[in-house]
Formats: sequence, structure tokens, C-alpha cells
Amino acid sequence: MTTRPYESWGRYPNAHHRAVLVARWRDDPLPLPSPDLSVLPFGNGRSYGDVCLNDSQALIDARPLDRFLAFDPATGRLGCEGGVLLSEILDLVVPRGWFLPVTPGTRFVTVGGAIANDVHGKNHHRAGTFGCHIRAFELLRSDGSRRLCSPDENADYFRATIGGLGLTGLITWAELQLRKIDNPYIAEETVRYRSLDEFFTLSAESDRNCEYTVAWIDCLASGAGLGRGVFIRGNHAGATPAREPRAPRLKLAVPLTPPISAINWATLRAFNAAYYYGHPAGRHAGTVHYAPFFYPLDSVADWNRIYGPKGFLQYQFVVPHGQGAEAVREVLQRIARAGTGSFLAILKVFGEPASPGLLSFPAPGLTLALDFPNRGPKTFDLLARLDEVVRQAGGRLYPAKDARMRGEDFRTAYPSWPELEALRDPRFDSSFWRRVRGGGK
Ligand SMILES: Cc1cc2nc3c(=O)[nH]c(=O)nc-3n(C[C@H](O)[C@H](O)[C@H](O)COP(=O)(O)OP(=O)(O)OC[C@H]3O[C@@H](n4cnc5c(N)ncnc54)[C@H](O)[C@@H]3O)c2cc1C
Repeated sequence: MTTRPYESWGRYPNAHHRAVLVARWRDDPLPLPSPDLSVLPFGNGRSYGDVCLNDSQALIDARPLDRFLAFDPATGRLGCEGGVLLSEILDLVVPRGWFLPVTPGTRFVTVGGAIANDVHGKNHHRAGTFGCHIRAFELLRSDGSRRLCSPDENADYFRATIGGLGLTGLITWAELQLRKIDNPYIAEETVRYRSLDEFFTLSAESDRNCEYTVAWIDCLASGAGLGRGVFIRGNHAGATPAREPRAPRLKLAVPLTPPISAINWATLRAFNAAYYYGHPAGRHAGTVHYAPFFYPLDSVADWNRIYGPKGFLQYQFVVPHGQGAEAVREVLQRIARAGTGSFLAILKVFGEPASPGLLSFPAPGLTLALDFPNRGPKTFDLLARLDEVVRQAGGRLYPAKDARMRGEDFRTAYPSWPELEALRDPRFDSSFWRRVRGGGK
């Protein structure tokens, strides 16, 4: 046993793992526990719910697979082991003029984890998901076999493993195609806007001109101000500015878990007002280092602790365009009526690029991500009421962020799940999968 915390980012639900095995060398046989236990790869625990947990069973810690295998600075092809962090890739490739093709809102995730959840970023409308840029990977199965997977070889395993929630085997290494950049800076523009309608206008205009678009919304606002927020958009900077923005250093940390959540109505109101009015009205352009643009939360280590010992739940859904605007409006109204709110509320329009994975989450439409402190039944009741809206609009929830969706909702929203089940490694399983697949297994 090592001493890493084997918990998810939301710190809910709790899981007790009976064994944690460590994958140290990619050529070694797969470390397996006693035959009565199933296993699940564990990356860096940045999933919010239970896709990275295997309660009462075993984990394989894949993070020690942290070596680079190849990098061609002429083509931007990179080969690395599955436990390499995106932050480690950035440290290597940015000074050489390359960037990640897709990045989530934290750089502290592993390549294996990014593939298994087929993560998306602010450029989904242009670049699709992380899996769209994976050229090949090796899958190590519990029978000892190694499958080289690519769009042309073992294509069924390739599709099932991208967004496959760690269930098809251990990704020992992967090869990905990076994106060229001229410097580490982003030409950013922020726009404070006053309503959901304004968001849609800004989003349409920005998606045409900008590679990266997203909005923070003030989910405590209601009435005419429902959906108001700050729209953030940007492109990789062409020319290096005369005064180069400095790379921020990781400075702050939450040293311990407070006995109760520090997020309550008063702190939320104060934060939301400060953030909204902290952005002057109108449009503001500037050039910033990539780190604060993509990873504002990474500057506070262990920020998940502020939610106290009960943790928090993230809720992210996508709803197709037709009913999307109405569904988002209804979700925001239900949250406002419940007298609760989310510290982080991120709204984005997903684009058309097809996701390569069988169970990839993104689909064309509107996606909203929200965080809620775990206040027990009150929180779960609210989320069940939000489920109704998502279900009616033909949407779905993101497994990487989920700890509680009903199995029936999962199976309806992800009709290809039996194909993943058929290719699942018989020794691999997870708390999430047992919860949603049904059949009482
Ligand atoms: C602050 C923050 C912001 C985020 N923003 C976004 C965002 O913008 N977009 C987005 O899509 N996600 C986002 N996420 C979620 C995060 O990107 C995903 O949950 C990601 O998959 C976590 O990777 P990890 O390495 O921590 O893996 P873990 O959370 O440990 O595991 C995730 C899954 O990957 C599997 N896995 C891990 N390693 C391997 C391996 N070597 N082989 C096979 N399977 C493996 C696990 O079994 C599990 O199913 C965010 C998370 C945080 C904390």
C-alpha cells in the first residue's frame, strides 16, 4: 500500500479499497489481487464521483507509469506512459512550441484518465474531445494479453476504451498528436453579460472566431438576470507581447478540511457578486499566460477540502440544441427556487465534432457544470429534480462528474453501454459501473 489518498475529487462517496496494487513498469505483467477481487485503474483521482473508485474491491495505481517514450518536435507526435500528467506534458512541450490539443479545467490528470473519460475542454466546438487526438495506445488485459489499439487495429477496443471508464484494461502507453503554438500566451477577451439570451448571442459569435469559449454564470441571479455571467474566450497568441505575462506559481493551498463546508449561502453570494462585478462591464482584452486561462483552479492546491468532510457533488449535463436553452433556464430556476447555488457554474456550447468513444459524454448541445456541497437528502432531492429536466430534454449526465445518477437514466442516455460491457475485462469493475449497469450484478 502506498500513502496516496485513493478518493475522488468530490470526496463523495467514501470507498474502502481492500487492496491497492501499483503498476510500475509497462512491460511487467498486470498486478492482480486475489481472484475474488475485481480491479480498477486509478489515475490521479480528479474524477468527482465514483468512476475512479472500486469500493470493497481493488485498485491498480497507474500514476507510477510516468515516463515519456518519444517526442518529435517537428511533427508534434508524443508517446508517453498512461500515468503521465498533462502538466508534465505541458512542461516538456510548451517550450518547444507545442500544446495539448484538448485540455480539461485542471492539468493534474493523467493521460490514461483523460482517455478513459474522453475529456473535453473549452475548444470542443473546434477540436472535439481528447480521444479525437489519440493515435494509438496499448491495452494490458488481465489474461496477460497486450493489444495495440488504433482506429485501424483492434478498432473495437479503441472505441470502447476511449470513454470506457477504465473497464477494458490498463492503458500502459498512448501516442497523441499535439497542437502547434507560437508562444505560451493566450489572447483573451472577457465579456460581462446580463442574461441567458446574451450568452447565446456571444457564444455564436465567439465560436466562429475563437478556439476557446466558455462562460461562468452567476447561478444565484434570477428574473431578468437569469444566466448572467462572464464570457471568457481566447485564441493562442500569434505575436509574443513586448511585456511577456509571467507564469503564475502554485502559491495557495487549503491546509486542512474544515469541520463544516465553508460554502454556504452567504459565502456564495459574496463570491458571485465579487466575481461578476469584479469584471468591469463590457469587453476587456488582454494577453495572459496559458495557466490562468485554462487552469484557474489549479492555483489553489486541495481546494476540494473547502467543502468539508462530507464533500461535494458536481453535476454536469449536456442537452441537445432544440430544447437546450429551455432546459438550462429551467435548471437555473429550480436551483434558485431551492435556495441553494453553485460556486462554480460553467456553461458552454458543445460543437459538432464526433466523439470517438462508445460512451463519450459530449454531444452537440449545451453543457452546464455545477458544484453543490453535500448537504445530504436536501442536495440529493434537488439533483433528482434537475434529472427530470435533463431526462425530458433528451440529455445526459457526465460519468466523470457523477456519484448518484439512476442506472435507468444512464442506460437510456448511453444506449451503447452493452457493447462496452461485452468488451469489459472480466477482472475489471468499478463502483460506478456496478451502480449503473443494472441486473443486480
Ligand atoms: C478542477 C477540475 C476541472 C475539471 N475540468 C474538466 C473539464 O473541463 N472537462 C472534462 O472533461 N473533465 C474535467 N474534469 C474531470 C477530469 O478531467 C476527469 O475526471 C479525468 O478523467 C481525471 O483523470 P485522472 O487521471 O485523475 O483519473 P481518475 O479520476 O483517477 O480516473 C478516471 C478514470 O480513468 C480510468 N483510468 C485512469 N488511469 C487509467 C489507465 N492507465 N488505464 C485505463 N484506465 C485508466 C479510471 O479507472 C477511471 O475510470 C475536471 C476535474 C477537476 C478536478
